[in-house]
Amino acid sequence: MKISKIWSEVKYIELKTPFKTALRETTHVEFIRLHVESDNGLVGIGEAPATKAITGEDLEIITNSIESVKSIFLGLTCKEAIEKLHSTCKIGSSATSALDIAFVSLHVKIHNQSYIEYFGTKNLSPLKTDVTISLNDYETMIEDSKKAFQDGMSILKVKLGSDIAHAVKVIHKIVKELPSVEIIVDANQAWSVEDSLAFIDGIEGLHVELIEQPVKADDISGLKVVTDYSQFPILADETVFTLEDAKKIVQSKSAHMINIKLMKCGGVTKAVEILKYARENGVTCMLGSMLEGEYSINIALHLAMAYRDVIQYIDLDSPLLYKELSDELDFEYRGCLILLKK
Ligand SMILES: [Mg+2]
Repeated sequence: MKISKIWSEVKYIELKTPFKTALRETTHVEFIRLHVESDNGLVGIGEAPATKAITGEDLEIITNSIESVKSIFLGLTCKEAIEKLHSTCKIGSSATSALDIAFVSLHVKIHNQSYIEYFGTKNLSPLKTDVTISLNDYETMIEDSKKAFQDGMSILKVKLGSDIAHAVKVIHKIVKELPSVEIIVDANQAWSVEDSLAFIDGIEGLHVELIEQPVKADDISGLKVVTDYSQFPILADETVFTLEDAKKIVQSKSAHMINIKLMKCGGVTKAVEILKYARENGVTCMLGSMLEGEYSINIALHLAMAYRDVIQYIDLDSPLLYKELSDELDFEYRGCLILLKK
């Protein structure tokens, strides 16, 4: 079966409340949904959200990137298309990811497989996700944390900004109010090395799972200084897009863990390469996402299930932030648990 048609549409999903990090604020998930059709009429779906602050791609750039390369895939099998995509296309990582996911999705349909069969997943027991606490004033963040805990969330990803005094105060209060929650701190590059060390000193002795991307993405030497200093595990997010980035960070010991996202690495095929490298080298991973649509989250969740031995943290809470839960998801969320639908 060969690829005969490729087209995309723009989709929006309204959020319950605005999503705020040190890098951006948004009220909607905005994404491209990509359709790839085979000559026997089956359709695979891929998606890519607009996250210009992270990948440099907005909806227009993603659409134009896909338009610029799509003709080379017509007449190919999905496997050939995936190979060609990653060997020849110089387009952004989100656009690449949308194409990769769509080709994998169509491949699975053509072979009458499920993602469970495609990934060879053995263990289908529930996964556990964190939920994001947006960067806000102190009172709002404490209130949001308590509300999330009441809703059954036991892992909070707390977004912090450049105000270190605020950051330290927020974490102290959450630990005091909610002693049983696991706290993941995400600074989204907001800190200097000095800020990072001050924050680490400020939360000394508290139980915090890890600190994510304290310094600028390109400041690998700064990241290493923080990692060498910190008693809390440091996780590289925006610093690690590709397998090459992951190897650089692991070999130089610039972070303790890495955050893999489909939109950074160029899709499922590339994420699997990083996960296999992590498995071989004993690297702990987080599988994260941007604010994304249902189909890219679906395949990320399948990936999380298949590679649960190396993925210690799952940050796939986008659907929990939608104003209305979608029935296009293969999974259901019960508190922090994610269960495969029957
Ligand atoms: Mg992050």
